[in-house]
Amino acid sequence: MTTDPSTGSGQAYQGKTVIVASGARRRKLGIPGEDKFEGKGVAYCSTCDAPIFRDKKVAVVGGGNAGLEAVQDLFPYATEIYLLEYGESLKGDPKTVEEIKKNPKLKEIILNAQTLEVVGETLVTGLKYKDKVSGQEKTLEVGGIFVEIGSVPNSEIVKDLVQIDDHKQVMINFQHATTSHPGVFACGDVTDDPYKQNNISAGDGVRAALAAYNYLLNRKKKSPAEEKV
Ligand SMILES: Cc1cc2nc3c(=O)[nH]c(=O)nc-3n(C[C@H](O)[C@H](O)[C@H](O)COP(=O)(O)OP(=O)(O)OC[C@H]3O[C@@H](n4cnc5c(N)ncnc54)[C@H](O)[C@@H]3O)c2cc1C
Repeated sequence: MTTDPSTGSGQAYQGKTVIVASGARRRKLGIPGEDKFEGKGVAYCSTCDAPIFRDKKVAVVGGGNAGLEAVQDLFPYATEIYLLEYGESLKGDPKTVEEIKKNPKLKEIILNAQTLEVVGETLVTGLKYKDKVSGQEKTLEVGGIFVEIGSVPNSEIVKDLVQIDDHKQVMINFQHATTSHPGVFACGDVTDDPYKQNNISAGDGVRAALAAYNYLLNRKKKSPAEEKV
């Protein structure tokens, strides 16, 4: 391989296979209060955390498919849901948009909304945003805020080595966990597997380990000189 194999500590490792399991990081709003109230009303995974918001008013930020799914995940628990989108229209699947509009718990879809600040004392009590059309600043009184504006795969380390899709996800063969580069395997949230969950990532990790093991077993034996390259 041609990439620099050294780690953050400066230690270099060499191997005949590599499993890329570097995960993904959630995209953040980058507004005051977001970090302070993470886990205290600000959440990033509706599949995981929706039940915590039982009987609460909740804002979902992001009008793509993730935002729409968050609204659906919240229907059984939240009392009122507000969906905020930065652009002038929702970006998610139109059929899902029609579906969620039918549920009275979805109080309002707020377009052209620029989020400004997460408000609270010890827990979240509100979300301040600006209507980009009128310029007016408003505050939604909510006890929860789901940030659903996408995630970024930590694929930078292999971006020049293996095939990456438009979303910067490492493309894998799902049956064999292989990437476009022989001997490089990948698993979990860094890949183009559509389901980003603990159990799935753990299972994918086992698959990648078995695939790497089989790769080593079946690898054509090289001469000692070739092995050094
Ligand atoms: C807020 C939140 C809550 C969640 N809650 C749940 C839940 O309740 N249930 C559930 O099933 N799923 C949940 N998920 C999803 C779940 O966390 C992921 O699907 C799972 O952790 C992915 O596993 P992974 O091993 O691919 O990546 P990660 O768990 O993200 O692990 C990747 C590791 O690689 C390291 N790394 C990154 N870059 C490099 C690099 N260049 N070199 C070396 N190491 C690197 C990272 O520091 C990290 O330790 C949640 C996700 C988020 C963000």
